[in-house]
Amino acid sequence: MLFKEVAGVNDVKDKLRFAIDGNHVAHAQLFFGPEGSAKLGLALAYITYLNCLQPIDNDACGTCSSCHKMSKWIHPDVHFIFPTAGAKKESDKPQLLKEWRKFLLEMPYSNLSDWAAFCAAENKGMSIGVEESRAVMKLMHLKAFEAKYKSVIIWYPELMNSSASNALLKILEEPAPKTIFILISQNPDQLLLTIKSRVQALFIRPYEDDEVYDFISQDLSIVNSRLPQIVRLAEGNLNLALALAQEVEDDKQKIFRDWMLFSYKNDFINLSKYSDTFNSLGKESQKNVINYGLSIIRMCLLVKYSEQVNESLKEGEKDFISKFSAFVHLKNIDIIIEKLNEFQNVLARNANTKIAFFHCSVQLGKALRLPKE
Ligand SMILES: [Zn+2]
Repeated sequence: MLFKEVAGVNDVKDKLRFAIDGNHVAHAQLFFGPEGSAKLGLALAYITYLNCLQPIDNDACGTCSSCHKMSKWIHPDVHFIFPTAGAKKESDKPQLLKEWRKFLLEMPYSNLSDWAAFCAAENKGMSIGVEESRAVMKLMHLKAFEAKYKSVIIWYPELMNSSASNALLKILEEPAPKTIFILISQNPDQLLLTIKSRVQALFIRPYEDDEVYDFISQDLSIVNSRLPQIVRLAEGNLNLALALAQEVEDDKQKIFRDWMLFSYKNDFINLSKYSDTFNSLGKESQKNVINYGLSIIRMCLLVKYSEQVNESLKEGEKDFISKFSAFVHLKNIDIIIEKLNEFQNVLARNANTKIAFFHCSVQLGKALRLPKE
């Protein structure tokens, strides 16, 4: 992860870069701050920048051999200690590490519950045992393979049990040269005082509203009219903002699915209710639902005729497309696309939305019921 890929907090990034550029890299650091702040992302960007072979424009280059490995979290000199549910068998560890790397790539603003859900574990049983800690700390006494520094990122160090905490304390008391520990904590008060006294602490502030707005609005598929509400509810928690934005996405998907189903069935009672729902969405959201629909129709054809599945699709979407593609074929696809485009044009002319919705639904229903042959 590069600094420029971490949302906002430019002031904090400057501080971190300044320390590295000035060669003031503390051997043990604590990044602490509230949920949904940039703690983890900044730690990842910090280590990436530190190990980059040819940094440019105040950031890691993203292309050197070190950056390449860091982009997948497979650098042999960078280790992670993170909470897991109970002791893991040696044979389970490679799979767990694979999931952890995927989690880092996909959800760097997440919290412990997200990780528990991601790796299908019980949230309440998550902790860091002494085994995980010892295994990594042993490695720290070896020379770095290729990086300038050997690094360990400890996520939720407050969840280390007492043996693990003591093992960490021991290594912090006798640091090996060119090693760095970054502890990323949400509740630093729960750390041993002896550990806290040995780390350089940096508060990672919550996000400002405009930073949340900028980051969320980069995803153009999110309905803009809901953005201010998301930003307000998130209160600087980017993780929450992303979850709320996802709900908006899910709403959009649900509306399109139901709309197609009711149209296909000629279910006028539900279509009448949905014409109210659609009318209340606002222009931009209406446009979003139609554009989403058009992209789904195109994907249905791809799945049907080339068996290509877009990997970025979510599970629910894949499922919907595989079912819906049974009703989209070469005899009706042009008509469906034409009707959706016509509807979009009518809406742009400020026509009566409810009547236009109803009219479009009847036409779509007819097209969806056309036989394939
Ligand atoms: Zn690089």
